[in-house]
Amino acid sequence: MLLRLRRGTSEPAVSDVAARLRLAGLALHRTDHDGQVRLAAVGDGTAVDWDEVRRWPAVESAERIEAPFKLASRAFHPADTVISVGRCAIGSQQLVLMAGPCSVEGEEQAFTIAAAVAKAGATVLRGGAYKPRTSPYSFQGLGEEGLKILRRAADAHGLAVVSEVMDPEHVEQVARYADIVQVGARNMQSLSLLREVARAQKPVLLKRGMAATIEEWLMSAEHVLSNGNRQVILCERGIRTFESYTRNTLDLNAIPVVQELSHLPVIVDPSHGTGMRDKVAPMARAAIAAGADGLLVEVHHDPDHALSDGPQSLYPAQFTELVQQIRAIAGVVGRTL
Ligand code: PEP
Ligand code: MN
Repeated sequence: MLLRLRRGTSEPAVSDVAARLRLAGLALHRTDHDGQVRLAAVGDGTAVDWDEVRRWPAVESAERIEAPFKLASRAFHPADTVISVGRCAIGSQQLVLMAGPCSVEGEEQAFTIAAAVAKAGATVLRGGAYKPRTSPYSFQGLGEEGLKILRRAADAHGLAVVSEVMDPEHVEQVARYADIVQVGARNMQSLSLLREVARAQKPVLLKRGMAATIEEWLMSAEHVLSNGNRQVILCERGIRTFESYTRNTLDLNAIPVVQELSHLPVIVDPSHGTGMRDKVAPMARAAIAAGADGLLVEVHHDPDHALSDGPQSLYPAQFTELVQQIRAIAGVVGRTL
């Protein structure tokens, strides 16, 4: 249920409403909108007499939140959520560009790519230290050593860091080095991982599972939100379809659909979305034109020798050119870079 409290309700009266509903076994989540306190009361509310609640002096209205993703819904929080990371305000008018290698491979590689993407205009350096590879014989990432390298490379160029975490027991470690903790497509429904990243109190980049519906994706976001972390950035990275000419099918429909349903920022990863270098820029441009809040792009200075995802990685010069195009499109759709 969504309770709107009367404007001017005192803090003790807000606490009193929340406490009374908690006694009925509900969990309470607060947001303030337009000078009004809104409380989402979630859980089994069948034993509550809602008509009586509506008569409480502090309560202006109490209505059901129809969406199953209560806290991620626009009903709970009508205004866009803006997440501050380093120099970026993700979900604001300003677009965010996250770029870097698929995997951190070493000091020289990370520093070379960090310098290139920073110069081109990215503000967040990406790079995996824990890699979810299809084959157990492929490069699995450098682990903590990779995180240290990534952090140093980012700091040298004034960039923030996003990096993936695969295991709940590594969340604390990844959160120590990264500004944004990434949950990968393969782990979108790993609920123990979602609970753990919620506790980390760092922004979470939640990739859409490759076979997940938009509703399932938002329900995963709900796991993070309901466990106390409101800083979720959604990332569309392509879904599995019958099409085989591209690695995945980038679902650009998801951008306006999510933006109607949810207040959370949504960015697009055209690298995994296409799997092919020459398809990355067209889909990146389309994503921004469609209203995405930013991009996550794989860039490598020597993609032929990359330890993962070389074929979909842009050369630094291609990324630089793409940023210029994105800047032009941003102006058309009322965004800045
Ligand atoms: C990645 O970002 O390198 C990655 C593994 O992405 P996804 O989880 O979308 O496959
Ligand atoms: Mn990758």
